[in-house]
Amino acid sequence: MLKGKSAIVTGSTSGIGRGIAHALAAQGVNIMTNGFGDTPETIATVKSEIAKFGVKAEYNPADVEKPEQIDAMVDATIKAFGSLDIVVNNAGIQFVAPVDQFPLDKWNAIIATNLSSAFYTSRRAVPLMKKQGWGRIINIASAHGLVASENKVAYVAAKHGIVGLTKVVALETAKNGITCNAICPGWVLTPLVQKQIDAIAAQKKVSNDEAAKEILQEKQPAMQFVTPEQIGGLVLFLCSDDAKLITGSAYSIDGGWVAQ
Ligand code: NAD
Repeated sequence: MLKGKSAIVTGSTSGIGRGIAHALAAQGVNIMTNGFGDTPETIATVKSEIAKFGVKAEYNPADVEKPEQIDAMVDATIKAFGSLDIVVNNAGIQFVAPVDQFPLDKWNAIIATNLSSAFYTSRRAVPLMKKQGWGRIINIASAHGLVASENKVAYVAAKHGIVGLTKVVALETAKNGITCNAICPGWVLTPLVQKQIDAIAAQKKVSNDEAAKEILQEKQPAMQFVTPEQIGGLVLFLCSDDAKLITGSAYSIDGGWVAQ
């Protein structure tokens, strides 16, 4: 059912975004990949991995903090594929510090990358999707879109914000064949989380495995990391016809994190 459609997946040169891009490509979706500061080797690998599924794969270097670069990425997608049917707002960054020591530049960067970017893509995608009478916007929020943790003031604010943005876009598109939903993953073992594990291992002088076990123990009752492939599966469900009346929702995929 998705064959021949086209998607932008922001932050798809790594981790969760890469898994989502593969899941969509495997269903015949052309993919505009995107990332920040990627090497030519990474870009070539990411594109060829997607092309193996027999779809078109392009890369756009838009810095999602910059609305004019998002505009250019949307235009490039239409030019390359002829339509924009699916947008997955996935690009994200993290920084950890108490509120009174949180650097201003880190606050601004996290709000721009993890929240404002989804506004920039949505304002461009919605008119195109309304014209088509079909569209899917999926925002990768976090368990931190629903509950808080210490030392993550910007991230938690941005992720709660994206859950709110999701609801508004869902209401404004409910009669147009468009859905907008958020996915709220728990811990996924990607470079973003590995940095946090490394910091704990260094601080507490424990092994990588012990530090990983510690973060799972603290938050994720299943004691397993969620995988990018599992999140890709949820994205496919939200793009399916069965999910056409699911809109404005925030789906947890977190091994029980927010049930506590
Ligand atoms: P990651 O570090 O592996 O990948 C992040 C991607 O975002 C990379 O491709 C990077 O190039 C891109 N990116 C960063 N800043 C950008 C910018 N300004 N412009 C364009 N691209 C940019 O991280 P990940 O863990 O795969 O995270 C992906 C998303 O999932 C993020 O929104 C993150 O908050 C969310 N998330 C992650 C976890 C987790 O446990 N890993 C849990 C919940 C939510």
